[in-house]
Amino acid sequence: MDEQTGATRAAAEPSDDVSRETLVATGVLPRVVDPVVASIPPVSAASARTVVAPMSPDEELAPVHDEDNPAARRAAPTPVDPVPAKQQSVALPRPLHTRVFVVANQKGGVGKTTTAVNLAVALAQGNLRVLVIDLDPQGNASTALGVDHRMGARGSYEVLLQSDSIADDVVVSGEDERVLVLPATLDLAGAEIELVSQVAREKRLHKALKAYLKGHEVDYVLIDCPPALGLLTINALVAANEILLPIQCEYYALEGVTQLVRTIDLVKGDLNENLILTTVLLTMFDSRTKLSSQVADEVRAHFAAQTLSTVIPRSVRISEAPSYGQTVLTYDPSSVGSRMYRAAASEIAWRGAGSAVTPVQGQTGPTKPQSIEGNHD
Ligand code: ATP
Ligand code: MG
Repeated sequence: MDEQTGATRAAAEPSDDVSRETLVATGVLPRVVDPVVASIPPVSAASARTVVAPMSPDEELAPVHDEDNPAARRAAPTPVDPVPAKQQSVALPRPLHTRVFVVANQKGGVGKTTTAVNLAVALAQGNLRVLVIDLDPQGNASTALGVDHRMGARGSYEVLLQSDSIADDVVVSGEDERVLVLPATLDLAGAEIELVSQVAREKRLHKALKAYLKGHEVDYVLIDCPPALGLLTINALVAANEILLPIQCEYYALEGVTQLVRTIDLVKGDLNENLILTTVLLTMFDSRTKLSSQVADEVRAHFAAQTLSTVIPRSVRISEAPSYGQTVLTYDPSSVGSRMYRAAASEIAWRGAGSAVTPVQGQTGPTKPQSIEGNHD
């Protein structure tokens, strides 16, 4: 946080027990805008289209008492479901080159892992080949994809620090055979420190992935990062060519983005000039609250081109699925969370069909785009 912003916030600090959110919502306090994000030229939020699907009553969280909220009424779910539950296995376009996404946001709990695993399975259900690299010592992506990552299993730690090849340590996900997972084991917790003394410490994943992609046809690589901007995340940013930034629809949503944007610029300048922030996904959107719509408008104003039309709603089914070692796509395929993650995968795949994004060096990539049949949205 820079000094000016800190000073602005200090001046705006509520002095009694009324929350900041309430004061901002009622116009007493100004909204504090992230300085880096504010420097990005705004565009008309009105031109943005938000796709939300109706929830069945049993999927909703406890009602929010926000009846007096015109914005929430305006953002009420559209009556048309963009991805009917029956369309579960529609082929998606194959990219010209492997698209390597890093799913990053150093803010914790914003939906990085949930997004990585559900998109992976949604893309696989679209008949694409996906590799998920779990770079978070918490190993949540490995758990959700039904992969064993207990002590003794090999995975991203061994690739980063023992020069294992990715091919030796990947396992097939129990969720879909077209999803391969490089699991995170508990050893990864020490990797941040152990990497410091390694040669080319920021490029170790890049080197391993480049070698893997020479010999294996993969359409999408999704790298799940820990909530920090340490060497694990830097390794992911150096190995990737696209950034997928999940932003939770809550107050302070844009706050950590300043630091992430700075880190991306540093990585672009020194280590990976091809890195582009191509995709922003709004997560945990609650159409009943004014706050969710305000955050969505603000994000769209700053990331107009990058923000997907599809918004992931707050849904009980999405949060329940990991405790069964599943993604929501297999746990409850017809739930609103499944439908919206399929819609997001479809949007990403169609946006990147014939993508101009520079491929990761050394990859051969799939040969030609797959022909598409049927209705995709
Ligand atoms: P961390 O920074 O710790 O790695 P994260 O950014 O990966 O967190 P997740 O683990 O994906 O975030 O999600 C945080 C919590 O929110 C989890 O309990 C998850 O099940 C829940 N969650 C994620 N998305 C949704 C959603 N759309 N609706 C309801 N719960 C959600
Ligand atoms: Mg996570």
